[in-house]
Amino acid sequence: MIVDVAIAGLPLHRTFSYTCEHSVPIGTRVLVDFRGRRSTAYVIGESEAPPKDVRLKNVVRVVDSEPLVSERDVKVAIKVSEAFLAPMGKVMDLYFSGFGEFSTIQVVKQTEDDSERKPVWEWLQTHGLHRARRLAADAKLRIEAVQKAPLSSTKRRRLVELIASINELAGLKFGEKQAKVINYLSMKPCEDLQVLLTRLGVERRTIDSLEKRGIVKVKEETLAPWVEQKRVKLTAAQRNVKNRIESDFYSPHLIMGVTGSGKTEVYFELIEKVLAQGKNALLLVPEISLTPQIIARVRGRFPQANVYPYHSHLSKRERALVWWKAVIGESRMIVVGTRSALWIPMHDLGIVVIDEEHDESYYQTAEPCYDAAVVARIKATIYGIPLILSSASPSLSTYHAAIGGDIKLHRLKERPVGSMPQVKLIDMRRKKPEERIISYELSRSLEKTLESGKVALVLAMRKAFANYVACARCGYVFKCPRCDIGLSYHRSGKLLKCHHCGYTVSLPGVCPECGSKELSSRGYGTERVEYELIRRFPTARILRFDRENVTSPTETEHLIKEIVDGNCDIVVGTRLISKGLDAPNVNLVAVVDADRNLSIPSFSSRETLFQLLIQMSGRSGRRDHGVSLIQTLEPEDEFFKFVKANDYEGFAQFEMEKRRVFRYPPFSTLIRVIASSPDPLIAREALGRLSSELLQMGLEVLGPTEAPLPKIRGEYRFHVMLKLDSAKFQELSKRLADLLDKIEGSGIRVNCFVNPRTTFP
Ligand code: ADP
Ligand code: ZN
Ligand code: ZN
Repeated sequence: MIVDVAIAGLPLHRTFSYTCEHSVPIGTRVLVDFRGRRSTAYVIGESEAPPKDVRLKNVVRVVDSEPLVSERDVKVAIKVSEAFLAPMGKVMDLYFSGFGEFSTIQVVKQTEDDSERKPVWEWLQTHGLHRARRLAADAKLRIEAVQKAPLSSTKRRRLVELIASINELAGLKFGEKQAKVINYLSMKPCEDLQVLLTRLGVERRTIDSLEKRGIVKVKEETLAPWVEQKRVKLTAAQRNVKNRIESDFYSPHLIMGVTGSGKTEVYFELIEKVLAQGKNALLLVPEISLTPQIIARVRGRFPQANVYPYHSHLSKRERALVWWKAVIGESRMIVVGTRSALWIPMHDLGIVVIDEEHDESYYQTAEPCYDAAVVARIKATIYGIPLILSSASPSLSTYHAAIGGDIKLHRLKERPVGSMPQVKLIDMRRKKPEERIISYELSRSLEKTLESGKVALVLAMRKAFANYVACARCGYVFKCPRCDIGLSYHRSGKLLKCHHCGYTVSLPGVCPECGSKELSSRGYGTERVEYELIRRFPTARILRFDRENVTSPTETEHLIKEIVDGNCDIVVGTRLISKGLDAPNVNLVAVVDADRNLSIPSFSSRETLFQLLIQMSGRSGRRDHGVSLIQTLEPEDEFFKFVKANDYEGFAQFEMEKRRVFRYPPFSTLIRVIASSPDPLIAREALGRLSSELLQMGLEVLGPTEAPLPKIRGEYRFHVMLKLDSAKFQELSKRLADLLDKIEGSGIRVNCFVNPRTTFP
């Protein structure tokens, strides 16, 4: 037999032929000799006999006695590889994201007369996947982690929290170690005890003495608490959507409902239906930040089901455990995960749901680049299972497909509880200097929220105190040596940081060019907004929520808990706070610098901003009425009229008209190829060659030009953009893949994006 294989980990599109003595099924992994090395390869099809003068090598060894990846899965991978011009081997690699730690996972087989424990991989080699699945279906086999040490997701942890206010602290005296702890906690009001001790090198008794003085509190927190939830009774509108979806279940559907309209409750019922049929469900959520809350909600709604999170913040062992459980199969399983979960070769998958479908994190920007919403459609079609997309502000591509009938569209226009927030624009033109960040109107509204004991969310587009620092005398700007962009100023610690590569230095006292001491900062971010708010409202409890002080799902969960429990008055954050937060006590939402992102050089910057503003407003008034305030310099712009009216469809029509004129997606297929290299010449030349070949094919090509951020992490970046209509793309896909293989070479990294959600950076 001659097999067609894709080489694992190889950034090439083409596949290779090998001979094999026995017939091996599609999806099997084999070992082959490839370019002088032994490599893992995936059998993706049968090959035709080669020309007479070509001698093929034999595969060295067959790895899987039975493939873990089905023929259907390989079909999905081939389609994805074509649709995204993604290297086939790298696409196939995605299926094995949880395979690696197999030695830590075991099979436990239990029948009346016999019980057996064996490492999972060993057991499968002898008995096969088929048998494992059959036994699992009869509850005679289960998957466990080998060591019994608790997994981090179920561990309790102790948190140290600063409870004294700044005013109270001012009059007190502290030892050196105590001061260290207080300084730390004044930047980050709550920290894991263990982390605090190791990071600061202090001992437990320092914390204990602070606790005795009533300055900090140590509390235990059990993670992901959940309570069984009563099923809500669907409103007529929700029931209507549910019925319409069920009557045409196996098509792709979009539930487009305003924030808080009960979309989640509708797809919960659909998941329930699939579980009742004995199948499993996959629920994709945009960010790890969101998973703890949604996991708790799913567990509460489906107490009988096996609910597992799957995302990159789990340890390898935790991921392997979920992966193997999903591959072998367990009854009534719901995997809740980020885009990587879509690639688990899950047994008996019966439905895929994508929540907040518009979220940019569904597009993977590292090779292989793909859009999970599109991959899910391919997968659902090939599997013949339902796909449910859900959003208040779907991506324009999805909306376009839904209007055209390729995806079934269902609208929910009202909230079952609470009401839609009132959106007000604040005109920031001609404001006094002291109102530049927080306008008088915003100040007044915050006061009212504070009086009413509710919570306000304040969004800024960037983190840090200032966007960059410049010399007031000579104009010198502090830049990242690796990225060629301005360093942001972080007031806590007086640091300059690069938000692209993490490069950090202390702020020098003088300008390195002219020695002047007059350094001034420009622009502002969350830290500055927080500072301004503390000045105005010194007694308010203010929390900051951005990637500087929230770095893990557990920290996110803690902060969300603080908000929901009402342990704060104002939360200042970046877009992290816009994602799915369902806190009943929030009645004011404000965006301080709404215009900022409109200048991002991407065809989609307005779309992304609109979605963000809709999501942000959506956090307000989820139980009673709420207000959303948006500060802008262009209140008369068409864009903000749609924002004010909370009119997604109006905006979508308006924006799509522009896209149509300029032939941007969804009216064309947009391909962006980025080449990066430490040597700018090599990158530019490679793209130059690509570009001239594309021009010869008669295509509309832009570039090569410098990418919007021309240097990141020491690598120079150039890009080429290509617009063509979808039929033409399908026709040329193979040739384009060949061209990409040709420019792939040493000293250069090539990334190809098909219909990216943004063309920045
Ligand atoms: P969405 O997914 O559209 O943002 P959710 O499903 O999260 O909306 O619903 C928002 C809030 O309204 C939730 O707290 C939810 O429990 C509640 N809710 C949804 N549907 C109903 C209903 N039919 N009756 C009562 N409460 C509901
Ligand atoms: Zn200077
Ligand atoms: Zn940098």
